[in-house]
Amino acid sequence: MPLSLDQHREMSRRIAAWRVDPARPVACPLCGTEGLKIIDRSARPYAEWYALSCSACGLDETLHIPLGQPM
Ligand SMILES: [Zn+2]
Repeated sequence: MPLSLDQHREMSRRIAAWRVDPARPVACPLCGTEGLKIIDRSARPYAEWYALSCSACGLDETLHIPLGQPM
């Protein structure tokens, strides 16, 4: 179930905040439950990849953030 453009944009913002403070819980972009699991699988310096999974709604997505994109 791919994220919509708006959900993707919102999730990019949440990940930016999560990178500043990884201890802070992140809400799922689909169901809003806090405790989203994020795994950094980035292939720097080319792109950033984050595997997202939510135990509440079953979300299992990989979020791709091209480097150089303003967040
Ligand atoms: Zn969820």
